[in-house]
Amino acid sequence: MELIDIGVNLAHDSFDADRDLVMRRAADAGVTQMVVTGSSVDSTRKAIELARSHPGVLFATAGLHPHHASDLTDATRAELADLARDPAVVATGECGLDYFRDFSPRDAQRRVFAWQLELAAATRKPVFLHQRDAHEDFIAILREHHAGLTSGVAHCFTAGEKERDDYLELGLAIGITGWINDERRGLHLREVVRVIPADRLMIESDAPYLLPRDIRPPPKTRRNEPAFLPYVVRAIAAARGESAEAVAAATTATARAFFGLPAAG
Ligand SMILES: [Zn+2]
Repeated sequence: MELIDIGVNLAHDSFDADRDLVMRRAADAGVTQMVVTGSSVDSTRKAIELARSHPGVLFATAGLHPHHASDLTDATRAELADLARDPAVVATGECGLDYFRDFSPRDAQRRVFAWQLELAAATRKPVFLHQRDAHEDFIAILREHHAGLTSGVAHCFTAGEKERDDYLELGLAIGITGWINDERRGLHLREVVRVIPADRLMIESDAPYLLPRDIRPPPKTRRNEPAFLPYVVRAIAAARGESAEAVAAATTATARAFFGLPAAG
């Protein structure tokens, strides 16, 4: 089984002590390539460094998470625009709106999101999207900028059928995490995921977050790793009535085409 993790926060400091081991375990689990999420100027720089030191295996995104929207200054704007054009960067983002936490004021979030959609259009790279509790504003801004975009993925999709249909109608792909493994809050996703076309469906760990809840025996720490991605594949396969091998093959092919990744190894 070959897997591509399209969203891993491998620059996160929880991986500082054992990042090489985490990568080794990922490879042993069949995860041949990973897209390292850049969510701030710092994590984007670090993601690019990681991608440069593991060519063909790690790739980076360049962006500003809505939590950090109020960090955007003229200087960081220029720097992000520069980083987004780096050859190691395969997507702009993560960017979007997060009204669940509201760490940045909403008008700043909307402005910074719109700017990053323009950046994605200028770089001709896909956009890596984050949305939580902000669907109406999010889809309105996307519709406004949609014509310039090459493609986009709604990462860590946790919403319902209406949101899924709105995204699919806009031509977006959808990223599914271990949220679907959660027997308390992820049950609706098992319905939602049945209707996503195979060429729009990708998988992601979002590690160190979102540890799948059905890992047996449960790991000693709550930290998630890309090596646990097969649990997400099995949950999607069960929901869609497909084999894990079929889900792995399809999501890998979709991710490789979407981000323009070379063949592994
Ligand atoms: Zn996110």
